[in-house]
Amino acid sequence: MRSHLLSPPPERGLFCNRTLNLRAIKAVGYDMDYTLIHYRVEAWERRAYEYIRDRLVEQGWPVGDLTFDPALAIRGLIIDTEKGNLLKANRFGIVKKALHGTKPMEFDAQRDEYASTLIDLHERRWVFLNTLFSLSEACIYAQLVDRLDAGQLPGSTPMGYTDLYEHVRKNLDATHMQGRLKAEIIADPERYVIDDPETPLALLDQRHAGKKLLLITNSEWAYTEPMMHFAFDRHLPEGMTWRQLFDVVIVSARKPEFFTTRSALYEVVESGGEALLRQHTGPLKPGTPYFGGSAVELERHLGLSGDQILYVGDHMFGDVHVTKDVLRWRTALILRELEDEVRAIAGFRATEARLGERMVHKERLEAEGCQLRLELQRRRFQYGPRSETPTEAELVARQAELRAELEALDAELGPMARAATELSNPIWGLLTRAGNDKSHLARQMERYADIYTSRVSNFLFATPFVYLRSPRGSLPHDPSLPGGTPVFPSSDAGGGGVMGTDGAE
Ligand code: IMP
Ligand code: MG
Repeated sequence: MRSHLLSPPPERGLFCNRTLNLRAIKAVGYDMDYTLIHYRVEAWERRAYEYIRDRLVEQGWPVGDLTFDPALAIRGLIIDTEKGNLLKANRFGIVKKALHGTKPMEFDAQRDEYASTLIDLHERRWVFLNTLFSLSEACIYAQLVDRLDAGQLPGSTPMGYTDLYEHVRKNLDATHMQGRLKAEIIADPERYVIDDPETPLALLDQRHAGKKLLLITNSEWAYTEPMMHFAFDRHLPEGMTWRQLFDVVIVSARKPEFFTTRSALYEVVESGGEALLRQHTGPLKPGTPYFGGSAVELERHLGLSGDQILYVGDHMFGDVHVTKDVLRWRTALILRELEDEVRAIAGFRATEARLGERMVHKERLEAEGCQLRLELQRRRFQYGPRSETPTEAELVARQAELRAELEALDAELGPMARAATELSNPIWGLLTRAGNDKSHLARQMERYADIYTSRVSNFLFATPFVYLRSPRGSLPHDPSLPGGTPVFPSSDAGGGGVMGTDGAE
Protein backbone atom coordinates (compact mmCIF):
# COMPACT_ATOMS: atom_id res chain seq x y z
CA MET A 1 0.00 0.00 0.00
CA ARG A 2 1.10 3.57 -0.63
CA SER A 3 2.40 5.50 2.36
CA HIS A 4 -0.13 7.88 3.90
CA LEU A 5 2.53 10.00 5.52
CA LEU A 6 2.00 13.75 5.20
CA SER A 7 5.14 15.78 5.87
CA PRO A 8 4.79 19.39 6.96
CA PRO A 9 7.19 21.96 5.57
CA PRO A 10 10.22 22.12 7.91
CA GLU A 11 9.22 25.47 9.36
CA ARG A 12 5.91 24.02 10.57
CA GLY A 13 7.33 21.18 12.60
CA LEU A 14 6.78 20.50 16.30
CA PHE A 15 10.19 20.87 17.91
CA CYS A 16 10.81 18.93 21.06
CA ASN A 17 13.00 19.81 24.04
CA ARG A 18 11.64 17.09 26.34
CA THR A 19 9.98 13.91 25.16
CA LEU A 20 6.21 14.26 25.06
CA ASN A 21 3.74 11.47 24.34
CA LEU A 22 0.59 13.24 23.24
CA ARG A 23 -1.44 10.07 23.91
CA ALA A 24 -0.71 10.46 27.63
CA ILE A 25 -2.09 14.01 27.62
CA LYS A 26 -5.68 14.07 28.84
CA ALA A 27 -6.36 17.79 28.59
CA VAL A 28 -4.96 20.51 26.33
CA GLY A 29 -5.28 24.09 27.55
CA TYR A 30 -5.01 26.95 25.09
CA ASP A 31 -4.21 30.61 25.39
CA MET A 32 -6.16 32.75 22.91
CA ASP A 33 -4.28 35.84 21.73
CA TYR A 34 -1.32 35.03 19.48
CA THR A 35 -1.97 31.34 20.16
CA LEU A 36 -5.38 30.23 18.90
CA ILE A 37 -5.78 33.57 17.15
CA HIS A 38 -2.83 35.06 15.32
CA TYR A 39 -2.83 38.77 14.60
CA ARG A 40 -1.17 40.69 11.80
CA VAL A 41 1.57 41.89 14.10
CA GLU A 42 2.34 45.06 12.25
CA ALA A 43 -1.30 46.19 12.12
CA TRP A 44 -2.09 45.30 15.76
CA GLU A 45 1.11 46.67 17.22
CA ARG A 46 0.93 49.82 15.12
CA ARG A 47 -2.53 50.51 16.50
CA ALA A 48 -1.45 49.77 20.06
CA TYR A 49 1.56 52.04 19.55
CA GLU A 50 -0.61 54.84 18.21
CA TYR A 51 -2.91 54.58 21.21
CA ILE A 52 0.03 54.90 23.62
CA ARG A 53 1.51 57.79 21.64
CA ASP A 54 -1.81 59.61 21.48
CA ARG A 55 -2.30 59.21 25.21
CA LEU A 56 1.10 60.86 25.72
CA VAL A 57 0.16 63.67 23.35
CA GLU A 58 -3.01 64.23 25.41
CA GLN A 59 -0.72 64.53 28.46
CA GLY A 60 1.13 67.34 26.68
CA TRP A 61 4.13 65.37 25.39
CA PRO A 62 5.40 66.64 22.01
CA VAL A 63 5.55 63.20 20.42
CA GLY A 64 2.73 63.32 17.86
CA ASP A 65 5.23 62.89 15.01
CA LEU A 66 6.57 59.51 16.23
CA THR A 67 5.73 56.49 14.10
CA PHE A 68 5.87 52.76 14.74
CA ASP A 69 8.97 50.99 13.44
CA PRO A 70 8.15 47.26 13.22
CA ALA A 71 11.81 46.24 12.75
CA LEU A 72 13.21 48.06 15.77
CA ALA A 73 12.48 45.31 18.27
CA ILE A 74 11.96 41.56 18.20
CA ARG A 75 10.60 39.18 20.79
CA GLY A 76 13.20 37.96 23.28
CA LEU A 77 15.10 41.24 23.62
CA ILE A 78 15.59 42.78 27.04
CA ILE A 79 14.93 46.38 28.02
CA ASP A 80 17.48 47.80 30.44
CA THR A 81 15.12 50.21 32.17
CA GLU A 82 17.95 51.83 34.17
CA LYS A 83 20.02 52.78 31.15
CA GLY A 84 17.41 53.22 28.42
CA ASN A 85 18.87 50.40 26.33
CA LEU A 86 17.50 47.55 24.28
CA LEU A 87 19.64 44.42 24.52
CA LYS A 88 20.11 41.03 23.01
CA ALA A 89 21.76 38.55 25.34
CA ASN A 90 23.03 35.03 24.95
CA ARG A 91 21.97 32.05 27.02
CA PHE A 92 24.30 33.02 29.88
CA GLY A 93 22.83 36.53 30.13
CA ILE A 94 25.88 38.13 28.50
CA VAL A 95 24.95 41.17 26.42
CA LYS A 96 25.85 40.63 22.77
CA LYS A 97 24.21 43.64 21.14
CA ALA A 98 22.81 46.89 22.49
CA LEU A 99 20.92 49.95 21.35
CA HIS A 100 20.76 53.09 23.45
CA GLY A 101 17.36 54.48 22.54
CA THR A 102 17.19 53.67 18.84
CA LYS A 103 20.95 53.98 18.21
CA PRO A 104 23.43 51.08 18.17
CA MET A 105 25.95 51.34 21.00
CA GLU A 106 29.60 51.50 19.99
CA PHE A 107 31.59 48.42 20.90
CA ASP A 108 33.63 50.22 23.58
CA ALA A 109 30.57 51.82 25.18
CA GLN A 110 28.79 48.47 25.21
CA ARG A 111 31.80 46.78 26.80
CA ASP A 112 32.18 49.49 29.43
CA GLU A 113 28.50 49.25 30.31
CA TYR A 114 28.00 45.49 30.27
CA ALA A 115 31.33 43.63 30.45
CA SER A 116 30.78 42.78 34.09
CA THR A 117 26.98 42.38 33.93
CA LEU A 118 25.03 39.17 33.74
CA ILE A 119 21.35 39.68 33.06
CA ASP A 120 19.13 38.06 35.65
CA LEU A 121 15.50 38.48 34.73
CA HIS A 122 14.45 38.23 38.38
CA GLU A 123 15.75 41.79 38.82
CA ARG A 124 13.26 44.57 38.11
CA ARG A 125 15.82 46.43 36.03
CA TRP A 126 15.38 44.03 33.11
CA VAL A 127 12.18 43.65 31.12
CA PHE A 128 12.02 40.66 28.81
CA LEU A 129 9.96 41.02 25.63
CA ASN A 130 7.83 37.95 26.27
CA THR A 131 5.33 38.20 23.45
CA LEU A 132 4.58 39.96 20.20
CA PHE A 133 2.40 42.33 22.28
CA SER A 134 5.70 43.71 23.64
CA LEU A 135 6.89 45.19 20.34
CA SER A 136 4.91 48.43 20.54
CA GLU A 137 6.15 49.05 24.07
CA ALA A 138 9.81 48.46 23.15
CA CYS A 139 9.59 50.65 20.06
CA ILE A 140 8.04 53.66 21.75
CA TYR A 141 10.31 53.36 24.78
CA ALA A 142 13.44 53.39 22.59
CA GLN A 143 12.17 56.41 20.66
CA LEU A 144 11.28 58.25 23.87
CA VAL A 145 14.77 57.59 25.27
CA ASP A 146 16.13 59.51 22.23
CA ARG A 147 13.74 62.36 23.02
CA LEU A 148 14.64 62.33 26.70
CA ASP A 149 18.36 62.50 25.86
CA ALA A 150 17.67 65.42 23.53
CA GLY A 151 15.81 67.24 26.33
CA GLN A 152 12.60 67.16 24.32
CA LEU A 153 10.27 65.67 26.93
CA PRO A 154 8.27 67.84 29.35
CA GLY A 155 10.62 69.08 32.02
CA SER A 156 8.13 69.68 34.82
CA THR A 157 9.03 66.39 36.54
CA PRO A 158 12.65 65.24 36.50
CA MET A 159 12.60 61.93 34.70
CA GLY A 160 15.11 59.12 34.38
CA TYR A 161 15.04 56.12 32.10
CA THR A 162 13.29 54.01 34.73
CA ASP A 163 10.53 56.59 35.28
CA LEU A 164 10.13 56.82 31.54
CA TYR A 165 9.71 53.06 31.30
CA GLU A 166 7.12 53.04 34.10
CA HIS A 167 5.23 55.77 32.29
CA VAL A 168 5.19 53.89 28.99
CA ARG A 169 4.14 50.70 30.78
CA LYS A 170 1.26 52.48 32.52
CA ASN A 171 0.01 53.86 29.24
CA LEU A 172 0.37 50.51 27.46
CA ASP A 173 -1.63 48.78 30.18
CA ALA A 174 -4.32 51.42 29.91
CA THR A 175 -4.38 50.99 26.12
CA HIS A 176 -4.96 47.24 26.44
CA MET A 177 -7.47 47.65 29.23
CA GLN A 178 -9.61 50.48 27.94
CA GLY A 179 -12.17 49.30 25.43
CA ARG A 180 -11.35 51.50 22.43
CA LEU A 181 -8.52 49.53 20.82
CA LYS A 182 -10.29 46.21 21.35
CA ALA A 183 -13.54 47.69 19.97
CA GLU A 184 -11.65 48.58 16.79
CA ILE A 185 -10.35 45.04 16.44
CA ILE A 186 -13.79 43.54 17.05
CA ALA A 187 -15.30 45.89 14.46
CA ASP A 188 -12.81 44.94 11.75
CA PRO A 189 -11.28 41.55 12.57
CA GLU A 190 -10.35 40.80 8.93
CA ARG A 191 -7.86 43.60 9.14
CA TYR A 192 -6.12 42.33 12.25
CA VAL A 193 -6.52 38.54 12.30
CA ILE A 194 -4.75 36.04 10.05
CA ASP A 195 -7.31 33.40 9.23
CA ASP A 196 -6.20 29.81 9.81
CA PRO A 197 -8.95 27.27 9.04
CA GLU A 198 -6.60 24.46 10.07
CA THR A 199 -6.58 25.49 13.74
CA PRO A 200 -10.24 24.51 14.40
CA LEU A 201 -9.60 21.22 12.58
CA ALA A 202 -6.56 20.44 14.74
CA LEU A 203 -8.68 21.06 17.85
CA LEU A 204 -11.51 18.89 16.53
CA ASP A 205 -8.96 16.10 16.00
CA GLN A 206 -7.84 16.39 19.60
CA ARG A 207 -11.37 16.52 20.95
CA HIS A 208 -12.49 13.46 19.01
CA ALA A 209 -9.34 11.67 20.18
CA GLY A 210 -10.76 12.03 23.71
CA LYS A 211 -8.85 15.01 25.01
CA LYS A 212 -10.51 17.68 27.10
CA LEU A 213 -9.96 21.11 25.60
CA LEU A 214 -9.59 24.19 27.78
CA LEU A 215 -9.46 27.86 26.83
CA ILE A 216 -7.62 29.95 29.40
CA THR A 217 -7.15 33.54 28.28
CA ASN A 218 -6.37 36.84 29.92
CA SER A 219 -8.74 38.53 27.51
CA GLU A 220 -12.10 39.62 28.83
CA TRP A 221 -15.33 37.93 27.75
CA ALA A 222 -16.51 40.89 25.69
CA TYR A 223 -13.42 40.48 23.48
CA THR A 224 -13.00 36.69 23.64
CA GLU A 225 -16.50 35.88 22.42
CA PRO A 226 -16.54 37.88 19.17
CA MET A 227 -12.93 37.03 18.35
CA MET A 228 -13.37 33.28 18.86
CA HIS A 229 -16.61 33.46 16.90
CA PHE A 230 -14.78 35.14 14.02
CA ALA A 231 -11.77 32.81 14.02
CA PHE A 232 -13.54 29.50 14.64
CA ASP A 233 -17.25 29.26 13.93
CA ARG A 234 -17.15 29.45 10.13
CA HIS A 235 -14.58 26.63 10.04
CA LEU A 236 -16.46 24.26 12.33
CA PRO A 237 -19.06 21.66 11.22
CA GLU A 238 -22.50 23.07 10.47
CA GLY A 239 -24.35 24.05 13.63
CA MET A 240 -21.30 23.87 15.90
CA THR A 241 -19.79 26.91 17.62
CA TRP A 242 -16.44 27.37 19.30
CA ARG A 243 -18.13 27.10 22.69
CA GLN A 244 -18.95 23.45 22.03
CA LEU A 245 -15.33 22.74 21.25
CA PHE A 246 -14.10 23.48 24.78
CA ASP A 247 -14.83 21.64 28.00
CA VAL A 248 -13.79 24.63 30.05
CA VAL A 249 -13.61 28.32 29.08
CA ILE A 250 -11.89 30.75 31.44
CA VAL A 251 -11.56 34.43 30.56
CA SER A 252 -9.82 37.26 32.45
CA ALA A 253 -7.65 34.50 33.90
CA ARG A 254 -4.96 36.89 35.16
CA LYS A 255 -2.09 34.63 34.13
CA PRO A 256 0.53 34.20 35.55
CA GLU A 257 -1.33 34.58 38.90
CA PHE A 258 -3.83 32.01 37.60
CA PHE A 259 -1.06 29.42 37.83
CA THR A 260 0.34 30.51 41.19
CA THR A 261 -2.48 31.85 43.34
CA ARG A 262 -5.98 30.80 44.31
CA SER A 263 -8.53 33.42 43.24
CA ALA A 264 -12.29 33.43 43.31
CA LEU A 265 -14.06 31.98 40.29
CA TYR A 266 -17.10 33.65 38.75
CA GLU A 267 -19.56 32.49 36.15
CA VAL A 268 -20.10 34.91 33.28
CA VAL A 269 -23.85 35.29 33.00
CA GLU A 270 -25.02 36.73 29.70
CA SER A 271 -28.15 38.74 30.08
CA GLY A 272 -29.62 41.01 27.42
CA GLY A 273 -26.28 41.74 25.71
CA GLU A 274 -24.56 42.36 29.04
CA ALA A 275 -22.18 40.08 30.87
CA LEU A 276 -22.63 39.84 34.64
CA LEU A 277 -20.47 37.95 37.08
CA ARG A 278 -21.82 35.47 39.62
CA GLN A 279 -19.56 33.81 42.17
CA HIS A 280 -19.26 30.12 41.37
CA THR A 281 -18.58 27.00 43.39
CA GLY A 282 -19.03 23.38 42.37
CA PRO A 283 -18.36 21.63 39.06
CA LEU A 284 -17.75 23.62 35.88
CA LYS A 285 -20.36 23.35 33.16
CA PRO A 286 -19.13 22.93 29.60
CA GLY A 287 -20.12 25.79 27.28
CA THR A 288 -20.33 28.23 30.19
CA PRO A 289 -17.65 30.89 30.37
CA TYR A 290 -15.95 31.48 33.72
CA PHE A 291 -13.95 34.44 34.95
CA GLY A 292 -10.82 34.21 37.12
CA GLY A 293 -10.19 31.14 39.26
CA SER A 294 -6.96 29.20 39.48
CA ALA A 295 -5.05 26.32 37.95
CA VAL A 296 -5.11 24.32 41.19
CA GLU A 297 -8.94 24.40 41.24
CA LEU A 298 -9.00 23.50 37.57
CA GLU A 299 -6.74 20.46 38.13
CA ARG A 300 -9.11 19.36 40.90
CA HIS A 301 -12.14 19.81 38.67
CA LEU A 302 -10.51 17.83 35.87
CA GLY A 303 -9.17 15.17 38.24
CA LEU A 304 -5.86 15.35 36.46
CA SER A 305 -2.26 15.83 37.55
CA GLY A 306 0.11 18.33 35.98
CA ASP A 307 1.84 15.89 33.64
CA GLN A 308 -1.52 14.95 32.07
CA ILE A 309 -2.20 18.55 31.03
CA LEU A 310 -0.51 20.33 28.14
CA TYR A 311 -0.74 24.11 28.10
CA VAL A 312 -0.14 25.91 24.83
CA GLY A 313 0.64 29.64 24.78
CA ASP A 314 2.77 32.38 23.28
CA HIS A 315 3.81 34.32 26.40
CA MET A 316 7.19 33.07 27.60
CA PHE A 317 6.61 34.00 31.23
CA GLY A 318 2.84 33.99 31.73
CA ASP A 319 2.03 30.89 29.68
CA VAL A 320 5.08 28.69 29.80
CA HIS A 321 7.65 29.59 32.46
CA VAL A 322 5.36 29.76 35.47
CA THR A 323 3.25 26.83 34.32
CA LYS A 324 6.29 24.59 34.15
CA ASP A 325 7.99 25.97 37.27
CA VAL A 326 5.04 25.97 39.62
CA LEU A 327 2.68 23.27 38.36
CA ARG A 328 4.88 21.01 36.24
CA TRP A 329 2.28 21.02 33.50
CA ARG A 330 3.55 20.00 30.10
CA THR A 331 4.11 23.13 28.02
CA ALA A 332 4.13 24.22 24.38
CA LEU A 333 5.34 27.63 23.23
CA ILE A 334 3.86 29.17 20.12
CA LEU A 335 6.52 31.16 18.30
CA ARG A 336 5.13 32.37 15.02
CA GLU A 337 8.43 33.96 13.99
CA LEU A 338 9.93 30.48 13.83
CA GLU A 339 8.68 30.06 10.28
CA ASP A 340 10.79 32.98 9.09
CA GLU A 341 13.66 31.85 11.25
CA VAL A 342 13.75 28.31 9.87
CA ARG A 343 13.47 29.58 6.30
CA ALA A 344 16.26 32.11 6.87
CA ILE A 345 18.53 29.42 8.32
CA ALA A 346 17.81 27.12 5.39
CA GLY A 347 18.48 29.93 2.89
CA PHE A 348 21.83 30.57 4.53
CA ARG A 349 22.96 26.96 4.61
CA ALA A 350 25.40 27.14 1.66
CA THR A 351 27.10 30.28 3.04
CA GLU A 352 27.13 28.74 6.48
CA ALA A 353 28.91 25.63 5.19
CA ARG A 354 31.52 27.81 3.49
CA LEU A 355 31.88 29.89 6.63
CA GLY A 356 32.32 26.75 8.74
CA GLU A 357 34.94 25.39 6.38
CA ARG A 358 36.90 28.68 6.32
CA MET A 359 36.68 28.90 10.12
CA VAL A 360 38.26 25.45 10.43
CA HIS A 361 41.09 26.72 8.23
CA LYS A 362 41.39 29.86 10.33
CA GLU A 363 41.60 27.87 13.53
CA ARG A 364 44.42 25.76 12.05
CA LEU A 365 46.38 28.87 11.10
CA GLU A 366 45.79 30.39 14.52
CA ALA A 367 46.92 27.19 16.25
CA GLU A 368 50.10 27.19 14.19
CA GLY A 369 50.61 30.88 15.04
CA CYS A 370 50.29 30.09 18.77
CA GLN A 371 52.81 27.25 18.52
CA LEU A 372 55.30 29.44 16.66
CA ARG A 373 54.97 32.12 19.28
CA LEU A 374 55.57 29.62 22.07
CA GLU A 375 58.60 28.17 20.30
CA LEU A 376 60.10 31.67 19.96
CA GLN A 377 59.36 32.36 23.64
CA ARG A 378 61.11 29.15 24.73
CA ARG A 379 64.15 29.98 22.63
CA ARG A 380 64.25 33.49 24.05
CA PHE A 381 64.10 32.34 27.68
CA GLN A 382 66.09 29.17 26.95
CA TYR A 383 63.91 26.49 28.46
CA GLY A 384 62.06 23.40 27.24
CA PRO A 385 63.05 21.01 24.45
CA ARG A 386 65.77 22.39 22.13
CA SER A 387 66.05 22.08 18.36
CA GLU A 388 68.20 23.95 15.82
CA THR A 389 65.64 23.71 12.99
CA PRO A 390 63.78 25.56 11.83
CA THR A 391 65.92 28.59 12.50
CA GLU A 392 64.57 31.59 14.35
CA ALA A 393 64.56 33.58 11.11
CA GLU A 394 62.44 30.86 9.47
CA LEU A 395 60.00 30.92 12.36
CA VAL A 396 59.65 34.69 12.15
CA ALA A 397 59.15 34.52 8.39
CA ARG A 398 56.41 31.89 8.82
CA GLN A 399 54.75 34.13 11.41
CA ALA A 400 54.56 36.94 8.87
CA GLU A 401 53.14 34.56 6.28
CA LEU A 402 50.47 33.40 8.71
CA ARG A 403 49.53 36.98 9.57
CA ALA A 404 49.02 37.79 5.89
CA GLU A 405 46.97 34.63 5.33
CA LEU A 406 44.80 35.39 8.36
CA GLU A 407 44.20 38.93 7.19
CA ALA A 408 43.07 37.69 3.77
CA LEU A 409 40.88 35.10 5.46
CA ASP A 410 39.27 37.72 7.71
CA ALA A 411 38.48 39.85 4.67
CA GLU A 412 36.74 36.84 3.16
CA LEU A 413 34.96 35.87 6.38
CA GLY A 414 33.81 39.38 7.33
CA PRO A 415 30.87 39.78 4.91
CA MET A 416 29.68 36.22 5.51
CA ALA A 417 29.87 36.68 9.27
CA ARG A 418 27.96 39.95 9.03
CA ALA A 419 25.28 38.37 6.85
CA ALA A 420 24.84 35.66 9.50
CA THR A 421 24.13 38.28 12.15
CA GLU A 422 21.59 40.06 9.95
CA LEU A 423 19.39 37.09 9.07
CA SER A 424 15.68 37.86 9.58
CA ASN A 425 16.31 41.26 11.17
CA PRO A 426 19.10 43.66 10.14
CA ILE A 427 19.65 44.95 13.68
CA TRP A 428 19.10 41.85 15.79
CA GLY A 429 19.49 38.85 13.53
CA LEU A 430 17.85 35.55 14.41
CA LEU A 431 15.60 35.25 17.45
CA THR A 432 17.16 32.08 18.73
CA ARG A 433 20.82 32.98 18.19
CA ALA A 434 23.16 35.47 19.85
CA GLY A 435 26.63 35.55 18.41
CA ASN A 436 27.76 31.97 17.98
CA ASP A 437 25.52 30.81 20.80
CA LYS A 438 21.88 30.36 21.75
CA SER A 439 20.01 33.54 22.62
CA HIS A 440 18.42 34.25 25.99
CA LEU A 441 15.07 33.51 24.37
CA ALA A 442 16.32 30.13 23.14
CA ARG A 443 17.57 29.30 26.64
CA GLN A 444 14.21 30.05 28.20
CA MET A 445 12.48 28.10 25.52
CA GLU A 446 14.54 25.01 26.25
CA ARG A 447 14.09 25.38 29.99
CA TYR A 448 10.39 25.97 30.11
CA ALA A 449 8.78 24.79 26.88
CA ASP A 450 8.66 21.02 26.42
CA ILE A 451 7.85 21.62 22.79
CA TYR A 452 7.70 24.67 20.55
CA THR A 453 6.15 25.34 17.19
CA SER A 454 5.09 28.23 14.98
CA ARG A 455 1.31 27.73 15.21
CA VAL A 456 -1.35 25.58 16.78
CA SER A 457 -2.41 24.11 13.44
CA ASN A 458 0.97 22.34 13.24
CA PHE A 459 -0.57 19.75 15.58
CA LEU A 460 -2.56 18.70 12.54
CA PHE A 461 0.39 17.01 10.86
CA ALA A 462 1.60 15.46 14.10
CA THR A 463 -1.87 14.07 15.02
CA PRO A 464 -3.17 13.72 18.61
CA PHE A 465 -1.31 10.40 18.87
CA VAL A 466 2.23 11.55 18.25
CA TYR A 467 5.17 10.54 20.43
CA LEU A 468 7.59 13.43 20.25
CA ARG A 469 11.15 12.58 21.15
CA SER A 470 13.79 15.13 22.01
CA PRO A 471 17.02 14.98 20.03
CA ARG A 472 20.15 13.80 21.78
CA GLY A 473 21.69 16.82 23.52
CA SER A 474 25.12 17.89 22.33
CA LEU A 475 28.15 19.14 24.21
CA PRO A 476 31.30 20.83 22.94
CA HIS A 477 33.34 17.62 23.30
CA ASP A 478 30.97 15.57 21.11
CA PRO A 479 32.48 14.67 17.74
CA SER A 480 31.00 17.10 15.21
CA LEU A 481 28.44 15.82 12.78
CA PRO A 482 29.24 15.28 9.12
CA GLY A 483 29.07 18.63 7.36
CA GLY A 484 30.64 20.47 10.27
CA THR A 485 29.26 22.42 13.20
CA PRO A 486 26.80 25.22 12.37
CA VAL A 487 28.50 28.57 12.71
CA PHE A 488 26.72 31.81 13.51
CA PRO A 489 29.63 34.08 14.28
CA SER A 490 29.42 36.90 16.70
CA SER A 491 28.43 40.39 15.65
CA ASP A 492 30.82 41.97 18.14
CA ALA A 493 31.97 45.20 16.57
CA GLY A 494 35.75 44.89 16.47
CA GLY A 495 35.76 42.45 19.39
CA GLY A 496 36.60 38.76 19.48
CA GLY A 497 34.09 36.81 17.43
CA VAL A 498 35.38 35.29 14.24
CA MET A 499 38.14 37.79 13.87
CA GLY A 500 40.34 37.07 16.82
CA THR A 501 41.38 34.54 19.40
CA ASP A 502 41.35 36.91 22.35
CA GLY A 503 37.65 37.68 22.62
CA ALA A 504 36.43 34.46 24.20
CA GLU A 505 33.45 34.87 26.55
P1 IMP B 1 -4.07 35.81 26.11
O1 IMP B 1 -2.80 35.84 25.35
O2 IMP B 1 -5.16 35.12 25.38
O3 IMP B 1 -3.92 35.32 27.53
O4 IMP B 1 -4.57 37.31 26.24
C1 IMP B 1 -3.74 38.39 26.29
C2 IMP B 1 -4.57 39.58 26.72
O5 IMP B 1 -3.72 40.42 27.49
C3 IMP B 1 -5.09 40.40 25.57
O6 IMP B 1 -6.41 40.78 25.87
C4 IMP B 1 -4.21 41.62 25.54
O7 IMP B 1 -4.89 42.77 25.15
C5 IMP B 1 -3.79 41.73 26.99
N1 IMP B 1 -2.45 42.29 27.12
C6 IMP B 1 -1.35 42.01 26.40
N2 IMP B 1 -0.30 42.75 26.78
C7 IMP B 1 -0.74 43.53 27.79
C8 IMP B 1 -0.13 44.54 28.61
O8 IMP B 1 1.06 44.85 28.48
N3 IMP B 1 -0.92 45.13 29.54
C9 IMP B 1 -2.22 44.79 29.72
N4 IMP B 1 -2.83 43.86 28.97
C10 IMP B 1 -2.11 43.24 28.02
MG1 MG C 1 -1.37 34.99 24.27
